[in-house]
This record gives sequence, structure tokens and C-alpha cells, in this order.
Amino acid sequence: MSYKLPDEKDLEAMIGIVGKSYATNNKAITASYLAKSVMGLESQIPDIVVRPKYTEEIRKILIYCTAEKIPVSPVSAGLSGGFACPTIRPGGVLLDLSRMDRIIEIDTENRYAIVEPGVTNGALWAYMHKNYPDWAPPIADGAPPAATVVGDAIDRGFSLYTSSVGPQGDNFMCAEVVFPNGDVIRTGSWALPTAKPFYKYGLGPDIWSFLMGSQGALGVFTKVAVKIFPHPKFKTVVAWGMSNPYDMQNLTLEVGKQEFGVAHNTVMVQGGNYPLVMARWPKDKVPHDYEFYKEIGVSPWWMNWECWAQTQEELDYVVNRINNMAEDFKKNRAQDGEAMKPWELHPKQIASRMKKPNKIAIPYSFWEAGFLFIMERNSLFMN
Ligand SMILES: Cc1cc2nc3c(=O)[nH]c(=O)nc-3n(C[C@H](O)[C@H](O)[C@H](O)COP(=O)(O)OP(=O)(O)OC[C@H]3O[C@@H](n4cnc5c(N)ncnc54)[C@H](O)[C@@H]3O)c2cc1C
Repeated sequence: MSYKLPDEKDLEAMIGIVGKSYATNNKAITASYLAKSVMGLESQIPDIVVRPKYTEEIRKILIYCTAEKIPVSPVSAGLSGGFACPTIRPGGVLLDLSRMDRIIEIDTENRYAIVEPGVTNGALWAYMHKNYPDWAPPIADGAPPAATVVGDAIDRGFSLYTSSVGPQGDNFMCAEVVFPNGDVIRTGSWALPTAKPFYKYGLGPDIWSFLMGSQGALGVFTKVAVKIFPHPKFKTVVAWGMSNPYDMQNLTLEVGKQEFGVAHNTVMVQGGNYPLVMARWPKDKVPHDYEFYKEIGVSPWWMNWECWAQTQEELDYVVNRINNMAEDFKKNRAQDGEAMKPWELHPKQIASRMKKPNKIAIPYSFWEAGFLFIMERNSLFMN
């Protein structure tokens, strides 16, 4: 397929749609959108940057670019893939959606929030924390607060309670999407004229799942309805140390099989090896050999279970159950039971883990250590 490189006439067309302040081919500005190349994709400076505010503007941009054969890359915050969302050859129009930043509706009865693509994890978390403290949106646990809710859904990331409710893509109910020919559709229950966006599977095929992972290649999301979850007040972190990754993994899988009553309360389950413990420190200031970690009581491998519960009694039950299961595993099935021990975390360490957005993956991304997330009880995700 042949593409056209946008020229001055095309820039004028974009300005005609969004206004002079929001479309440019100024090199200083377009070059500022150049991202780090990732996974073999060579990053490219876009030819024109356009910053729409409304769905109707996006509709007109896509109709124009399709007719002119100009490639379009939508970007919500551009932070996916490790500080980068590269525009790839042949460049074209980069649609910066950060001006579409409205939180449109919170419905606690039907349990969703409707947001535009520019709504960041940090903004939605802060808004809910202030106005709906009994509810929590499934923001990414470790991502930069400046990454967006929509971007993380499309990337099918993992949220702060992924181990309990599954990957981000599953938490999204309905969307408004503009296709390259200008058609605007609403998916799921939202496709029905007066229905609310509470249910992903409406009439006909499941369009949401079809669009997931298309990374902007099939259409532009202009609104999404994301599930919100009741936010219990009783929380803690249970941690165990061990000498090897097999004991870490196998104990975690056993706990995960306590589907009802325990695993649903373990909202974020993550573990790794000792270098990750000090990952918030500058890399060149921390000794790399294990002796340093041994002295401060850190096991070579460890697993964290972040537990949320409705009452102190329920929380105590979950914590005791995990500890009892770990003791039993240590005695009867571990490869190196001797080395397994509960890791008593300082209240400050627990408080730091509970703080959201947690931003843990930011320092981790600078390290070479392994990292294990549990995505919905029995599926593992290695970073
Ligand atoms: C240090 C670091 C830590 C991270 N930790 C986590 C973590 O703990 N959990 C997690 O889940 N993720 C994590 N991520 C990944 C990151 O958070 C997500 O990929 C991010 O949320 C994407 O949001 P974004 O707004 O930056 O998306 P973008 O980079 O803007 O977009 C993501 C993709 O979707 C496309 N796209 C964007 N908006 C639209 C739209 N409106 N319509 C159609 N297509 C669109 C883009 O073209 C791109 O391909 C981390 C990233 C970094 C850099």
C-alpha cells in the first residue's frame, strides 16, 4: 500500500478542523514526540502533530487522512513500551489525545467510570479518592501516573488488583470508537440507544475484544467505560522469603488455588529476587552481591501478597491462611524448606506498598532482575 507524506495543504486541512493552536508541522514540536525505539520498531518523527478535543474533530481528521492516504497514529500519553510509543515509518499524522481529558461520569450503581483517552491514571485515582473514596478505579499498579487509563487498557496491562480481577482489558465494559472511514460506533450495551455502558457483551460480536491489541491501527477510542470496584479499608502485605524461584512460584500457585475466600482478597501478588528490593535506590549506590542483602535479612527470592478485606476479622483470616499454607508448603513440599521464612515488613514498607499509584515498575525498569506478577490467580507473568 502506498502512503502520502503530508504537505502544507494537509496541514491547512488539519488546522481547519482543530484550529491553528492545535495542529503543527513545526520541527521543534514534532521532534519532541520522537520516542525511544522499542522491540525492533524504528522510531520516527511525525510529520504533523494534531491535538483534537472532540470526537467530531477526530471523525473529520480520519475521513480526510483516509481519503489522502496519510497514516495516523493515535497516542493517549505515549508512555507504553518503556517511556516510548514510537511513531513508525512512514510517519504521517500523530494524534495527541491528551486534550481529551474529561472524566465524564461515575456510576456507582452500575459500577463504571466513563473517561476520555487523555485521562491519566493519576488524575482518575485522585478524582475518585477525593469524590468517591469508597470506590477504586483499576489503574495500573506500577505505571507512571501520567500514563492513561485507555492506553493501559489497549495495552492490556495489569492493574493494582489484577491478581483478583484479571488483566486491564477485562475491566473495560464499553467504548466509543471512530473508524478510519468516519463511522462512530459504541460497543457492548452502549450500542443500544438508551442503555448504559455497564456490560461488555451487547448485541452481535464482541467488538471490544476484537479491537484490543490493535494499538490504534483499526480505530481511535474516544471514550471508554471502565469498571470501578468497592474499595475496602482493611489492607496489608504478607511476604515470604525463600532461596529459589521454584519455591516462590509453587507456593504462590497453591495460594492462588484457594479461589474463594483467599485468592480474591490477594489483589496484587508479585515477587522476584533480591536486587529488586533496593530498586528505588540509585543503581550505582547499592551493592550488587547478595551478602549485603543477607545482612539486612532479605532472602534471595521473595513473594508479596497484597491483601484487601472488608473487616479486620476477614483480613486476619486471609493473612493466617496464607501463613499456614506457607508453613505447610515449607514443611512438606518445598525444594529448600530450611530457607523459607516469613518476611516481617516494617509498617513503613507496608505503607509504601499501599500507596497508589505505586510506581514500582519505574525503578524496576532500570534493573536487570526478574519480576513475577500473578495475573488472576493461576496465570503467571514474568517481566
Ligand atoms: C516505567 C513504566 C512502568 C510501567 N508499569 C506498568 C504496570 O505496572 N502495569 C501496566 O499495566 N502497565 C505498565 N506500564 C505500561 C504503561 O503503563 C501502559 O502501556 C500505559 O498505560 C499506556 O498508556 P499510555 O497513555 O502511555 O498509552 P500510549 O502509549 O499513548 O498508547 C498505547 C497504545 O495504544 C494506542 N492508543 C493510544 N490511545 C489510543 C486511542 N485513544 N485509540 C486507539 N489507540 C490508541 C497507541 O497508538 C499505542 O499503540 C509501564 C510503563 C512504564 C514506562
